[in-house]
Amino acid sequence: MSRFLNTRLRGYTAYTPGEQPSEKEYIKLNTNESPFPPGPEVLKVLREDSDFFTASLKLYPDPKQSELRRDLARHFENEVPSLTEENILVSNGSDDILNFSFSAFSGKDALAVFPDISYGFYKVFAEFQGVNYETIPLNDDFAINPKDYYNLSDKYKKKVFIIIANPNAPTGRALSREDVKKILMENPESPVIIDEAYVDFGGETALSLIGDYDNLLVVRTYSKSMSLAGARLGYAVGNKALIEDLDLIKYSTNPYSVNRMTEAVGRAALKEANYYRRNCRKIEDIREWTSDELRKMGFTVIPSKANFVFTKNEKGMTGKELYECLKKEGILVRWFDSERIRDYLRISIGCEEEMEMLVNKLKEIVRS
Ligand SMILES: *Cc1c(COP(=O)(O)O)cnc(C)c1O
Repeated sequence: MSRFLNTRLRGYTAYTPGEQPSEKEYIKLNTNESPFPPGPEVLKVLREDSDFFTASLKLYPDPKQSELRRDLARHFENEVPSLTEENILVSNGSDDILNFSFSAFSGKDALAVFPDISYGFYKVFAEFQGVNYETIPLNDDFAINPKDYYNLSDKYKKKVFIIIANPNAPTGRALSREDVKKILMENPESPVIIDEAYVDFGGETALSLIGDYDNLLVVRTYSKSMSLAGARLGYAVGNKALIEDLDLIKYSTNPYSVNRMTEAVGRAALKEANYYRRNCRKIEDIREWTSDELRKMGFTVIPSKANFVFTKNEKGMTGKELYECLKKEGILVRWFDSERIRDYLRISIGCEEEMEMLVNKLKEIVRS
């Protein structure tokens, strides 16, 4: 820290991303990336569009990203028939959009509300932006109780905005669309942000509620189910007025947040949605196999609708010990040094061979 750092930021702790090691080849099950490569349409853009990029990279990209937004609107026309590009905002990963949301909706004295165990970035955004927040504890089984989220502005006597990851991270548990709908109905004066980073692995999307609830913002990413974590592309879908609010923040910070290459691969990926859907089904199958194997070994596994499992050894090994043993064996998983979940590991679902390796190593570790 230099002596010039804003005093407001002294003592502030930033988000710690999962390790992205370069010193050693790990089986990487720590940041929920897809084990599968992007599909042929994306690869075609990367291989064949080099003339286009050569000619166009000297120019700024379209700050509105109109073509990509139009393609996204068409992509979701079954879920939301009335959807147009005006209902969509794209940016540099969904983290960017979540950050915009905290800026946009943390009006004077407004409170951000989210579960006590959820995506760690929510707390970081709130603290970084100086937004007051409250957390609501998950049930003992790590489920969200929807009723805990009813009438929150009455409960806190303040304006609130609500953020829920659905499926939740790092637990993997999901709320039904009906439950999300009730939370929307019970908070008509609060923006409700549903972070659907993992929805493609068996969750129920809230997209179809957008026409009926002008306080709903659904945030999505290409990073997990579409094998494009490295491209950095996320989007928000919601009422036009909410999208305008986010645009205001985007245009006040970084209007060109999506580059030309990312726009091109983002559009290409939509042409091969079935390829990604099939990969998600494979990941779900591998997840169920892994969960069974872990249970047979004496682990508790929280039922997951995401591309990871959240699990705890019931025979005395702490989360930290397991994390360290696995790392020594060349397998990286995620461990959170935080109350309530310190004995759990979050393990991303890799391909079959990777998960077989994981299970075999864990068997050895638990035995010794
Ligand atoms: C991974 C993740 C994100 C961030 O995704 P990017 O689009 O890669 O920024 C957002 N929310 C949750 C819950 C996530 O797990």
